[in-house]
Amino acid sequence: MTHQREVILEELKRLRTHPTADELYEIVKKRLPRISLATVYRNLEQLSAAGIIQKLDFVGRQMRYDGDISKHSHIRCVECGSVADVRINPIQGIDQAVIDACGYKVLDYHLDFLGLCPICLLKKHRDN
Ligand SMILES: [Zn+2]
Ligand SMILES: [Zn+2]
Repeated sequence: MTHQREVILEELKRLRTHPTADELYEIVKKRLPRISLATVYRNLEQLSAAGIIQKLDFVGRQMRYDGDISKHSHIRCVECGSVADVRINPIQGIDQAVIDACGYKVLDYHLDFLGLCPICLLKKHRDN
């Protein structure tokens, strides 16, 4: 692994914010002043293709990246776009519900949420 890639991976794993390539670039630049956004982006793509990080694709939004590849769900704030981890237990009975609905056996599923983050929720309460 190149030094650049090591730094990118290290910084991404440190963050819990699921940054976009731009956000990560601003952070990595402090350690590698000569790095370009294109290089950060390319490395993120390669790391996610190799399964070392995961890419979070929220439709219509900039791609975000997660250094934590353990299985967990995400929630995205519809106001500010922030993303947080959601760790909940597997949903009881969902496999059977899917078989009943369409006859397919479930091997894996992804459950992501849309909502309001605590800060935007507070703002809404204040404005009302
Ligand atoms: Zn928010
Ligand atoms: Zn995550």
